[in-house]
Amino acid sequence: MRSRLLQRNLRIDPPLALTGQGMLIHDSNGKAVIDGSGGAAVACLGHGHPRVLEAMRAQMDRLSYAHTALYSCEPAEQLADMVLEGEPGGLTHLYLCSSGSEGVEAALKLARQYFVEIGQPNRRNFIARRQSYHGNTLGALAAGGNMMRRAIYQPILSDAFHHVSACYAYRDRRDDESDAQYVARLAAELEAQFQSLGPDTVAAFIAEPVVGATLGCVAALPGYFQAVRAICDRHGALLILDEVMSGMGRTGTMHAWEQEGVPPDIQVVAKGLGGGYQPIGGIMIGAKIIDALRDGSGGFMHGHTYQAHPIASAAALAVQQVIREEGLLENVRAMGALLEQRLVERLGNHRHVGDIRGRGLFWCAEFVADRASKAVFDPALKLNERIKREAYERGLACYPMAGTIDGKRGDHVILSPPYIARPADIEAIVARFGDAV
Ligand code: PMP
Repeated sequence: MRSRLLQRNLRIDPPLALTGQGMLIHDSNGKAVIDGSGGAAVACLGHGHPRVLEAMRAQMDRLSYAHTALYSCEPAEQLADMVLEGEPGGLTHLYLCSSGSEGVEAALKLARQYFVEIGQPNRRNFIARRQSYHGNTLGALAAGGNMMRRAIYQPILSDAFHHVSACYAYRDRRDDESDAQYVARLAAELEAQFQSLGPDTVAAFIAEPVVGATLGCVAALPGYFQAVRAICDRHGALLILDEVMSGMGRTGTMHAWEQEGVPPDIQVVAKGLGGGYQPIGGIMIGAKIIDALRDGSGGFMHGHTYQAHPIASAAALAVQQVIREEGLLENVRAMGALLEQRLVERLGNHRHVGDIRGRGLFWCAEFVADRASKAVFDPALKLNERIKREAYERGLACYPMAGTIDGKRGDHVILSPPYIARPADIEAIVARFGDAV
């Protein structure tokens, strides 16, 4: 073993990623690989975008760091103006940090502080969904519902987090149930969770509008988020939407919640915000929360050394400018439709592909040992890792994930190419993926 880094897998030395250009990454084995997943749905402009590099260089020349206890900075202010333009869903403020997990922590703590400011300190509980991923720090991990990831750390996770079912029609809607009946059953489960905790003890419900890592691109059925919003409103709880993966254009609209028509009180963003050029994440916040802080203690009792970092903000500002000026949301929708069509043509009838699903440029294939029973493969096979390796050999980087299904490990693989993808890229991605499968 050559590497002295603590890697995800200490038994394997991964190749070094040496250079990146557009859709391609070149590795230390001399291989050029199409970045079919933009890392983990991160690199939305691909690699080495000249406008982003130029913006970062210019910012480095001007100012590389200033602490927020003393200063705000130009690129962070401009980024907030751009992201909040038109106050989408009534969200008026942006808090910046350095990752998705930090964003989730900020959202949870802000929700808690909000209720203290308005004189409801008894609201300490959070409801989240099983089969969700909100990050790896302790608060975010406690919110997340993936039991495999939680198992080791369970004894040190907060007991303020409670879980209900996600909306996962492929596996959980009963055969004798209509979509509307399934949504009503999920709403009843959420209502029952509020009642068992005591509705006036719940601070917020947190969910991914399109479940990413844990289930693989699972959008809720129509009406689900309306029902969730109504329950939160009825009980005076906040709705936090974690758009770390689904947000900033990934699903074909700037925010995935636009497709549900249900804006949150707090929205977490990260990956597509900065496109991987610098570590950055944040939360977008509704006016009533800002007003409560302003009238109360005067600010947010939370912060990090690198929040609103000038170079990270400048990179994200350039990424957001490019998305808007180059009409990339339109390209996400067009290329997403092509990706869906080609995936279904190539793998729709495959005996081990149970479901192909997604939105925009956020697509997933769920693998099953048997299509009729939807049985998962023997976890020891690590099928998704195997598909990742086979795809890489064929020149495609994809994002393999394991969800827990009925207590067992299930396999799915995500394809989430950069928004700059052209038709030939999509064809090559599906051809290589299909061969790997
Ligand atoms: N929330 C969601 C929905 C995510 O997909 C992720 C990352 N996969 C996170 C939070 C955590 O983000 P980070 O890895 O940047 O901490």
